[in-house]
Amino acid sequence: MRLDKLLADMQIGSRSEVKTYIRQKKVTIDGSTDVRANQEVNPVVQTVCYLGKPLKYREFEYYMLYKPKGCVTARSDAVHATVMDYIDSNRKNLSPVGRLDLDTEGLLLITNDGALSHDLLSPAKHVKKTYEAMIDGHVTDADAEAFRQGLDIGDDTLTRPAELEILSANEQSFIRVTITEGRFHQVKRMFQAVGKEVVYLKRISMGNLLLDETLKPGEYRELKEEEIRALK
Ligand code: URA
Repeated sequence: MRLDKLLADMQIGSRSEVKTYIRQKKVTIDGSTDVRANQEVNPVVQTVCYLGKPLKYREFEYYMLYKPKGCVTARSDAVHATVMDYIDSNRKNLSPVGRLDLDTEGLLLITNDGALSHDLLSPAKHVKKTYEAMIDGHVTDADAEAFRQGLDIGDDTLTRPAELEILSANEQSFIRVTITEGRFHQVKRMFQAVGKEVVYLKRISMGNLLLDETLKPGEYRELKEEEIRALK
């Protein structure tokens, strides 16, 4: 790719700004300042530095964020912190894959791989998403059966069959639920449909990707090669 494109993609500056930086000898390729904006560069085998700092360029970046409560799943927001505030990357086209509510925590994939994002969100692909939740109310086997059958949550169609595991049941119940759709507030609305309220919600997996339990809320890490492969 062209050097000026690479630098602009890495958000070093606009195309015209990076040309200035190149003229000012702030950019080196393999240690040399004898470089041109339109020069082809292969970031896999060549080391491009800006102000002496090597740029780690990959076509796609994949991050697993343990989304904390209280931030919105958006690229920008006038009121709240966004999930993007937690990611330290120069890439400008990173986006969250899907959405978690303001008060939901857990696994959120953030990437600039549009094709993967599209596939994971495609309604036709029925990608599994698993959540753990605390429910106000005694969750019963009848509720699990209703989740399996599909629920009327006020949309045109019933929800697709969902798997509800009751981990403990009392005045409050701790459950695990796996859904294969991504409707607005889906888990909360499914529990409302059986007369109960979600008081805590955490996503623990999406497709084959599991939340790394060593992460704390607000922490993130890059996906490993095998995790990326397992998602495709
Ligand atoms: N279902 C919900 O109700 N909220 C979420 O954030 C995710 C799934």
